Amino acid sequence: MSFASLGLSPALLHATRELGFSTPTPVQAEAIPAILRGADVQAQAQTGSGKTAAYALPMLHGLASLPMGGYRRQLRALILVPTRELALQVGELLQDLAARQAGSARQVLKVQALYGGVSINPQLLALRGGADLVVATPGRLLDVIEHNGLQLDQVRQLVLDEADRLLDLGFAEELDRVLKQLPVKRQNLLFSATFPSAVQGLADALLREPVQIRI
Ligand code: AMP
Repeated sequence: MSFASLGLSPALLHATRELGFSTPTPVQAEAIPAILRGADVQAQAQTGSGKTAAYALPMLHGLASLPMGGYRRQLRALILVPTRELALQVGELLQDLAARQAGSARQVLKVQALYGGVSINPQLLALRGGADLVVATPGRLLDVIEHNGLQLDQVRQLVLDEADRLLDLGFAEELDRVLKQLPVKRQNLLFSATFPSAVQGLADALLREPVQIRI
């Protein structure tokens, strides 16, 4: 199995090589083709499994293949995570891949991380020119929306990363409020280390005929 056989663009294959990823991890081998063809995905995957790149690579592939003539930044992909640490970590990988993917020819996709525990103002300022992808903790995302910093009406892809921890940390209500603001027509990806009944219930409510991945 190689990254080249998964359907990713040459620019992203180059980026994976530069990051030292020589072969896809099992979750990447299963998730990347499914996400590229637009399927919803339910994946049981632990931290360390390579789950972040498993959704980041196909999402960036899809966003970069949108026509760029007259391109206006709009939030098209939203990744919800339970903690500031994870928001920063996922944001960094996305940014790094987006920059490597762009080369010199095209505009770099804008990635913004939003998380609590710090002042909201720099985050609002950073969103002034728009963003293509946002990785956020649910509470801060709602704060930013209330400050008119962001709209979710053009989001086409949603990721819940570490869904079990999102629920453990008491984000069910915030999650609900976010989900209500998303367009109905979208792709949903849910990653979780464990699937107790509350997480499976969330997956069942969110996902349409998901590809099931168990590592
Ligand atoms: P994650 O499970 O997403 O937190 O990733 C765990 C670590 O594995 C991160 O440091 C990634 O940079 C690294 N990683 C992800 N995919 C690969 C791959 N295909 N080959 C080698 N390392 C990888």
